[in-house]
Amino acid sequence: MTSDDRPPGAIATRDAIASGRLTALAATEARLARIAEAEPGIRAWVEVDAEGALLVDAAQPEPFPVESRGQQELVAFYGLAGRQGGYRPPLVQVPVPWVMRLAWDSSATRSFLWIHEKAAESAARALGRIAASYTGAEIRDLGLDIFGGDYAPRKMRGADRYSLHSWGIAIDFDPVRNALRADKRTARLAQPDAEPFWRAWEAEGWTSLGRDRNYDWMHVQAAARGY
Ligand SMILES: [Zn+2]
Repeated sequence: MTSDDRPPGAIATRDAIASGRLTALAATEARLARIAEAEPGIRAWVEVDAEGALLVDAAQPEPFPVESRGQQELVAFYGLAGRQGGYRPPLVQVPVPWVMRLAWDSSATRSFLWIHEKAAESAARALGRIAASYTGAEIRDLGLDIFGGDYAPRKMRGADRYSLHSWGIAIDFDPVRNALRADKRTARLAQPDAEPFWRAWEAEGWTSLGRDRNYDWMHVQAAARGY
């Protein structure tokens, strides 16, 4: 696999590494091509040890902020929220180890997620662990290949607060089967086979509003909910 065959996100992330913004990813970047070759069905972004074995154990969770109603902690940690047509937070393209299809246009694919640079490394590790935990068929069955959104500057519905998507610190998966009002009985990602998926995020310090508050099961965010 040459670098030209890589998804655009892998190249952007490599550039971020080169500029020193994602140093912790450098060690895994060197091994990306070899892993991808071994798993041709998956665009691998996984951590491996010196012998090339997959590292699937929990990492130290990142010290992400606890979000209050005023969201001051988010601003202190991540900087300002993005504004439509205005300020954009420092975002990195994190490659996804499997092909994602857009929820609203299944003929269009995405091979990366836009993530705030302070949450990008942990997202890359979580995605690597998820790829190591499921087969491609299981990923599709769970709907992890259905992209519902990443960076999107906007206010929360019905509240004078920014959506965490405005910082590039939230990701939505399979929004149709995990609609905002779906609960743990009805949401696809509330079912037992999603447990490794959520554990991968939680091990990195990310929060599922579904598991924490039993709503918005499509959504995972790099901040705890403190209210
Ligand atoms: Zn969301």
